Amino acid sequence: MNDAPTWVIDPLPQPSLPVVGESGRFPVRRIFCVGRNYAAHAREMGHDPDREPPFFFTKPADALVPDGATIPFPPATKNLHFEAELVVAIGDGGADIDADQALDHVFGYAIGNDLTRRDVQAAAKKLGRPWDMAKGFDRSAPCGPVHRSADVGHLSHGKIALSVNGVVQQDADLADMIWSVPEVISHLSSLVELRPGDLIMTGTPAGVGALGRGDSCVVEIVPLGRLITHIAVS
Ligand code: MN
Repeated sequence: MNDAPTWVIDPLPQPSLPVVGESGRFPVRRIFCVGRNYAAHAREMGHDPDREPPFFFTKPADALVPDGATIPFPPATKNLHFEAELVVAIGDGGADIDADQALDHVFGYAIGNDLTRRDVQAAAKKLGRPWDMAKGFDRSAPCGPVHRSADVGHLSHGKIALSVNGVVQQDADLADMIWSVPEVISHLSSLVELRPGDLIMTGTPAGVGALGRGDSCVVEIVPLGRLITHIAVS
């Protein structure tokens, strides 16, 4: 007797990321993103960073784009923005995680680019509508391979930078985050029970800007290396 389920349509493959230095992959469950987690970026978006607690939005797991990929310019936008971000990969889940214990739940870290339809987001903000179509569109989550925290340690400071066609657009330090990685994990786990495979994109520093057709965008985080994404010419 075979109890394996049968499917009425083909099930999709498990979204995943490579893990540096090994053949096993990191299975991705959900992608959470932190809004306005660097003071200078909050200010450039017209907000007071000192008075606002962290807030979260999501992207679908299958919006992931691997390092080095070329993606088409997305539909329904005239203002596609890059956002360099540190990505936290959760290896051990939990609810109401204390910030002091939060790093024990981290499997590792990766480099991400929170691609954003800024014009769609601006319209949503104005109308009080959700951000899903501004943030969670197809191929909106370029993400590099996961580095085990056992190999790279826990990242609380270090250079985070982004360039477009070789011109630096964002240049900051992870230490500039308003809410640290342990605090982000603690806050988020008070809202949802985190599970292994969840990713958290931890927000972007100042300097966000537009990507056009034919552009190459490189995000760098020391010591994680670089993530490159190309926008197709047509
Ligand atoms: Mn972001």
